[in-house]
Amino acid sequence: MSEYSADGVWDNACISLFPSLVVSDEGATVPAEAEVLASCDNKRKANCAKCGGIRNCNIRGHYDEKGGDEDFLWSKNWYILQCCGCDYVFLQTVSTNSEDYHQFYERDDSEGIEYIETIGFWPVLSNREKPEWVGEFGIDAVGVDKLEIVLIELYGALDSDLKILSGIGMRTAFDVAAESLGVDASKSFEGKLESLVSEGHIGIVDKDRLGALVDAGNASAHRGWIPTALELNTMMDILEHFIYSAFVAPARAKALDEKARLMKAGVPARKRSGVKKTKGARGGGARQSPSAGTKLEPGS
Ligand SMILES: [Zn+2]
Repeated sequence: MSEYSADGVWDNACISLFPSLVVSDEGATVPAEAEVLASCDNKRKANCAKCGGIRNCNIRGHYDEKGGDEDFLWSKNWYILQCCGCDYVFLQTVSTNSEDYHQFYERDDSEGIEYIETIGFWPVLSNREKPEWVGEFGIDAVGVDKLEIVLIELYGALDSDLKILSGIGMRTAFDVAAESLGVDASKSFEGKLESLVSEGHIGIVDKDRLGALVDAGNASAHRGWIPTALELNTMMDILEHFIYSAFVAPARAKALDEKARLMKAGVPARKRSGVKKTKGARGGGARQSPSAGTKLEPGS
């Protein structure tokens, strides 16, 4: 007896909860689904995209599909999960089939089979962690509506592992960012980079770095170049650094200036020290030292 029985009928719908279940010639006992869920306290461990990492999650819903024929059997379990840490709700799918498994031997020489699970999530898990200044609905800056739309799509492409489209999206994000900074959209990429330097938005080093990003994006757009995950990460590092420097940091500095202004208005003015004038203190006479009774405030 195994999870995939000879007559093509699944022995248990909840196999994915026990991926390392041993299957031997003598057979293995697979608990009923209700029993499994009860033993797991209706919880399941899963990667929470919101608070990050493997978390215990409450199973809020479960549905399983299975099918196949005498040669091939498959199963897909759908779980609606709620993270016990942050209450985030998401969908997890766990797929297995009769062809994908690891085979091993137990100490008693009995044969064991571990079916390989393919796990999916919706919303998908991020391939790249967004910087803290990128929120669900945009970035921490003002006047960047168009850039935000491009960035949201770009992160979506990265999460979906669409490498060529991600490369093109980065080039487009640079284009839109430059336009948002007042650079003429009809200029070539080289002309845009030069304008950004001449107008003080970036330095020479930034120009070279962004030039590499634009070249890579162009290669994806025009020659179908497929960047590796490492190359995509480097490209995103360059783009995020540019956007942070050009939009986020100035917006935060401006907000901090306003806070400083308000704070300064609320601070009581310093009272002037009552310095007693003495005869001869002016015109080259003896100077009065602090130790002679005049109190000086720090920083005076
Ligand atoms: Zn969580």
